[in-house]
Order: sequence, then C-alpha cells, then structure tokens
Amino acid sequence: MNLFLSQEQEEIRELVHDLCLERVEPRAAEIDESAEFPWDIKELFAKNDILAIPFTPEYGGVSGSALTLIVAVEEISKFCATSSLILSVQSLGSLPIWLAGSEEQKRKYLPPLARGEQLASYALTEPGSGSDAGGMRTRAIKHGDTYVLNGSKTFITGGSVADTIVVFARTDQDGDTPARNISAFIVEKTMPGFKVGKLEKKLGIRGSPTAQLFFQDVALPAANRIGDEGEGFKIAMRVLDHSRPGIAAQALGIAEGAFDLARRYALERHQFGKPIAEFQGIQFILADMATQIEAARALTYAAGDALDRKLPDIGVSSPLNG
Ligand SMILES: Cc1cc2nc3c(=O)[nH]c(=O)nc-3n(C[C@H](O)[C@H](O)[C@H](O)COP(=O)(O)OP(=O)(O)OC[C@H]3O[C@@H](n4cnc5c(N)ncnc54)[C@H](O)[C@@H]3O)c2cc1C
Repeated sequence: MNLFLSQEQEEIRELVHDLCLERVEPRAAEIDESAEFPWDIKELFAKNDILAIPFTPEYGGVSGSALTLIVAVEEISKFCATSSLILSVQSLGSLPIWLAGSEEQKRKYLPPLARGEQLASYALTEPGSGSDAGGMRTRAIKHGDTYVLNGSKTFITGGSVADTIVVFARTDQDGDTPARNISAFIVEKTMPGFKVGKLEKKLGIRGSPTAQLFFQDVALPAANRIGDEGEGFKIAMRVLDHSRPGIAAQALGIAEGAFDLARRYALERHQFGKPIAEFQGIQFILADMATQIEAARALTYAAGDALDRKLPDIGVSSPLNG
C-alpha cells in the first residue's frame, strides 16, 4: 500500500494492472514491431472506462484526479509504453477544453472522449518552434464569425488518429507581436482543409503515431476558439503544467517494467552454480535501480497530488502564465 494513494486509487491500480497483464502485455512486442496504432487496445480501454479516468463524472468520466491518472499511466507503461500514451494523450488533448473551454464546448466535446468513442490530440509544436512555442507561424485570421486557419504542426502524438485536435495559432494580423497573440482552437478531423502528413519513424513507442498535420484554409467557427483571443499561450503552458507529470509517470512505469524483467532474469540466470542475483555486484545494480524508482515515484506522485490540491506553485514561472 502506497502512503500517497487512497483505497480507491489502489483499486484502480489493481484493475489496470490485471487488465494489462492479461490483454496488453501479450500485444506489446507486436505493437512495437508493427508500428501500428493498436485500435484493439483503445477499444479495451474505452470498454473498461480507463479512457474515462481523466474526466470528472459531470462530463461522463470516472475521476478527473491527476494522481489517479498518473497511477493508471504508470501501470500501463510497465507493460506497453505505446498503450499508456493512448490514455495520457486523451488527457493532454482534452485538457485545453477542460481547463479553459466554455461550458458548451465541454458538454459537446468531453463526453465522447470520456466514453472513448473519440480520440483527442494537442497540436502546439511546429517545424520551426519547439521549446520556443511562442515562435509559431500557423495563423488563424478572423473574417466575421469565422477564423481561417493556415499552417502546419509537427510531432503531434495521435494526430493521425484523433477526432478532436486542439491547435494553437497566431491570431495577430502583422506577425510581429509576441506570444500573447496566440489563440487555441478546436479542429475536427472532418473539417475541409485538414490533412495528415508523414508519421515519424521512431526507435520506441512505435505504435503511437507522431504526425505532421497540415491546415489549408480550414474554416473554424469562432465558437471553436477556446478562451479569449490571445489567451492561447497561457492555456498551452497551463496544459503542459498539468500533463508533464503524466510523462514522468510513463517514464516511471517503463523503469518499473525494466526493473521487474532485470530482477526476474537475475533470479533465473545461473552462473558458477547459483543465480546471478546472489552476486553482490548484481545486487548493487538492482538496489540502485530500485532506489531511483522509489524516489522518482515519490516525486511524480507529489506532482499529481499538488495538481489535485491546486497548489499555487505548480505552474511554470513564466510571466505569461499568470
Ligand atoms: C515522440 C514525441 C511526441 C511529441 N508529441 C507532441 C504533441 O503531442 N504535441 C506537441 O505539440 N508537440 C509534441 N512533441 C514535440 C515536443 O514538445 C518538442 O519536441 C519539444 O517542445 C522540443 O522541441 P524541439 O524538438 O523542436 O527541440 P528544440 O526546441 O529545437 O531543442 C533542441 C535542443 O536545444 C535545447 N534548448 C532549446 N532551448 C533552449 C534554451 N533556451 N536553453 C538551453 N537549451 C535549450 C533543448 O533542450 C534541446 O536539447 C513531441 C515530440 C516527440 C519527440
């Protein structure tokens, strides 16, 4: 029993663990080998309400707690990193709507995501703007009640399989104004002018598509803008504050999975008449791994707990973050 977790969170962990042991672990190697998005695992998660974890019950979800989401992502990652991203990106792509959307947007977009009928993604990065997200060039120009979106995004996790994509674009007219003139928009994959480009060939997490996205004269109703015009950069950063602990949870779960394999192998493998786990040199390595995992877990859970308790110092110390 972990001191950080409630009885309910422990139960969710157990449920996710058992499901992944039975259904995800046997698929993990072939998902990575084939580099294809595992629709069967997405269905499994939808059917078992795992995709509902990031959402509160009023929007069709089962939790909405950052720490519960972390525990679920950690548990899935022990077995398959691709599969854990299905859940964490469902959260990442819906967070802009959840944190800054109107009630109408929440009621329209969140329930189908919570039910796992639709998938979400988050499109901030561009070929010329990574760490410097404020330097983006994708632009949405307002004509009456419609914005016309032009530009491209790159490295978008789940971008090729998502139904609802939150896209960040400049809404200034002259192009010289800094990050404050970025706005966030909900793009639906069926909108004319939206196109998926190439998928990255990655070394790992290969079943998770990392896509290039193109927008050519995509007509967006003003009702699809999240928050006020110019609030997009702040929204993007708030979303990253909320979603980065999920990436830590993924790394933590992968480390735990690797540790478990290493420990089992050390017990199985015999040299000089005994399991190699009995040699002190191997014990040092395993002890160091276990210590680092325990420390990483404490830090990751503390971040989730801080998010759930809405501690004020969780945010990025950027003046734009408010
Ligand atoms: C697998 C994968 C999935 C992704 N999924 C998404 C997604 O779903 N949505 C999305 O919007 N983006 C996504 N990204 C993009 C990711 O957020 C960017 O890769 C990240 O912001 C870094 O940008 P960059 O790759 O352009 O690197 P750069 O910004 O070009 O950085 C290159 C190097 O320079 C360093 N550097 C940059 N600025 C500074 C500085 N000021 N001081 C010191 N060092 C600096 C960086 O640390 C890095 O080592 C994904 C990326 C990957 C690899």
